[in-house]
Amino acid sequence: MTTGAARDSAAPRRDPDCLFCRIVAGEIPSTKVAEDDLVIAIRDIAPRAPTHVLIMPRDHVASAADLTDEHAALVGRIFATAAEIARSEGIADGGYRIVTNIGAWGGQTVDHLHFHLMGGRAFTWPPG
Ligand code: 5GP
Ligand code: ZN
Repeated sequence: MTTGAARDSAAPRRDPDCLFCRIVAGEIPSTKVAEDDLVIAIRDIAPRAPTHVLIMPRDHVASAADLTDEHAALVGRIFATAAEIARSEGIADGGYRIVTNIGAWGGQTVDHLHFHLMGGRAFTWPPG
């Protein structure tokens, strides 16, 4: 018999204090662009480009620094989703940028792994 501590495989692992876990759970509204069993993609609340979408795992992962071989399917899905959204947003041909910030100096402000998909304008390199 399973105990109360057993994980419900249908429910994402979540951090109760995490903003993006609350968005994944639907407790905070967002504009969803795509979703499946592993990831959701939402429009950034303060877009820095004509297309600015955040692609994130349903499960709480603090940042890319926590990714391991066990996340291979998740990472593949994130990039496949990003490419699909880029095509549907009409930015694929012009080119676009995918960025994930890690920690304070990396510019991370929400500690739930997310990839910024940005396009619709040209970007400079290196970033500021
Ligand atoms: P980071 O700074 O961690 O790389 O990216 C966090 C991103 O989340 C920022 O671009 C910020 O505008 C966005 N953001 C913060 N709060 C919310 C929110 O409540 N909803 C949405 N959709 N985006 C948010
Ligand atoms: Zn989270």
